[in-house]
Amino acid sequence: MDLHLKGRVALVTGAASGIGRACVDTLLAEGAHVVLVDLDSAGFRITEDLRKQGHQAHFVRADITDESDVERMISETRDTFGQLDSVVSCAGISGPVGTLAAHVSVADWDRVMAVNVKGNFLIAKHSIPLLARSDVGTIVFIASDSALVAFEGMSAYSTSKGAVLMLTKALAVDHSEIRVNCLCPGVVDTPMSRGDMSCPEGFAGGNLPVATPHQIAGHATFLASPVSAPINATSLVADFGYMGRSALPPLEFTTH
Ligand code: NAD
Repeated sequence: MDLHLKGRVALVTGAASGIGRACVDTLLAEGAHVVLVDLDSAGFRITEDLRKQGHQAHFVRADITDESDVERMISETRDTFGQLDSVVSCAGISGPVGTLAAHVSVADWDRVMAVNVKGNFLIAKHSIPLLARSDVGTIVFIASDSALVAFEGMSAYSTSKGAVLMLTKALAVDHSEIRVNCLCPGVVDTPMSRGDMSCPEGFAGGNLPVATPHQIAGHATFLASPVSAPINATSLVADFGYMGRSALPPLEFTTH
């Protein structure tokens, strides 16, 4: 399916790793020009390699919690490509994992809220004026299934992702000139989940359903594209159906 992204300009945060890195690949494969944003200066090398392959790519090293950095990444996008059609906001942190809420430090709590909530707000605040000039402006946030169900020991993360879900709706209601959606994946095989779940070698052979970064990037690219035009102010859950299951125990079916 042609996603009609050829010649469009997309900005991807968290572009140096995991889901963001995969989003860069899927957007470039659709013919988009991509601004990569990350705190990690590995983005310079990644972008240089993409340019050598003939892609239109530009890297901005920025901290999404810093308003002046966010303003700079939008102005560099405008100066480099002259337009912005989609923001795919993947940058995020998990914060304390395995720490019960009563033991979470205020510093850890504030850091998770700063990156996952304030960072996404700043990205929206400063990208909307440029996105609004596009006929197909979109924002896609990567929330999490943690926006909808809580896993013990991750209170700051779950709370922040719940906020991303509501930020999605609030922005779509306030700014009808663009579309805003979010993705709620379950576990995705990235450096973040490998670290959080102490699986440095990955999840192969386990009994946990785990998505690949490129599967999630495919969903994000679809939501970022004009093809998903009727979809707005909502979330797409990508959790292998976990949330559709009742708490009742499975029936023993007999065949006749
Ligand atoms: P990752 O750690 O592989 O990549 C995150 C990237 O964000 C890194 O490159 C990091 O440098 C960047 N980043 C972090 N803080 C930043 C900041 N302040 N400014 C700029 N860049 C910053 O993680 P991932 O697994 O690819 O996660 C991407 C998004 O998907 C996150 O928002 C995460 O919460 C969400 N998510 C991940 C999973 C999973 O299982 N991996 C599941 C659901 C949702």
